[in-house]
Amino acid sequence: MSVDRSQISTLADYHMHTPLCKHAEGLPEAYACAAIDAGLKEVGFSDHNPMAEIFDDWRMEYQQFPHYLDLIQKVQAQFSNQLTIRLGLECDFLPGQESWIKELSKHADFDYLIGSVHYLNSDWAVDDPDPKWASRWNHSIDDIWQQYWDLYRQCAASRLFDFLAHPDLVKKFGHRPEGDLKRFYEPTIEVIAANNLAIEISTAGLRKPCAEIYPSREFLELAFKADIPIVISSDAHHPNEVGSDFPIALTLAKEVGYTNSARFHKRERTLVPFDS
Ligand code: ZN
Ligand code: FE
Ligand code: FE
Ligand code: ZN
Repeated sequence: MSVDRSQISTLADYHMHTPLCKHAEGLPEAYACAAIDAGLKEVGFSDHNPMAEIFDDWRMEYQQFPHYLDLIQKVQAQFSNQLTIRLGLECDFLPGQESWIKELSKHADFDYLIGSVHYLNSDWAVDDPDPKWASRWNHSIDDIWQQYWDLYRQCAASRLFDFLAHPDLVKKFGHRPEGDLKRFYEPTIEVIAANNLAIEISTAGLRKPCAEIYPSREFLELAFKADIPIVISSDAHHPNEVGSDFPIALTLAKEVGYTNSARFHKRERTLVPFDS
């Protein structure tokens, strides 16, 4: 199965960061130019959400939130003739923080909110490469996966989000439990479908030690059977990652059976066929 540039142009990269999160590089203008070069017609910025109080060192402060909105508004205006740019936010799902996300969602006219599980508890993000966490992986991988997927289901059931990011992020460093992984996937797919959410096919995993798209093909096959819509995103933290490996992700989506991907505008979802 092959893809061409005209099919790439039917995709929208909705997962792009800004330097406000302290671990991404490049101005929004540079991301927009990169998107045009990649053949995209629509993208969205979705930087890591601020927390009510200082929580970690990889997100904007709450006082910077108006600046984020302003940055996106400016780049939207600047590229209005060439590129549709949506306003999103990548929100960390943490049990107990639901009302904060709900409040933030009212602070701007968002096109979509992404729900992400990075934190297994308030002091460990499973995707954190800092060597100080390496020993955490010496514990039962099965338990870590259980915890992760349990949170992912809570995130899906929270009704706070439009789509869910990098479904099996917990595999980032290549840790996978033994046996059939459907025991984690199937109950999760059920909750995602019941809450009418879309999921992300993220090419970021290809750039990480696991060297595999998030989610696995098996997870995606179950998602397709359950009629769960997809978006294809890069999780760009640098302009040169915008739209990265989209032909690989689109090929996977088509092989699994998908014929379209989702668009979001003011939190309304539509589906756009790959051949349109
Ligand atoms: Zn990030
Ligand atoms: Fe993330
Ligand atoms: Fe991200
Ligand atoms: Zn992300």
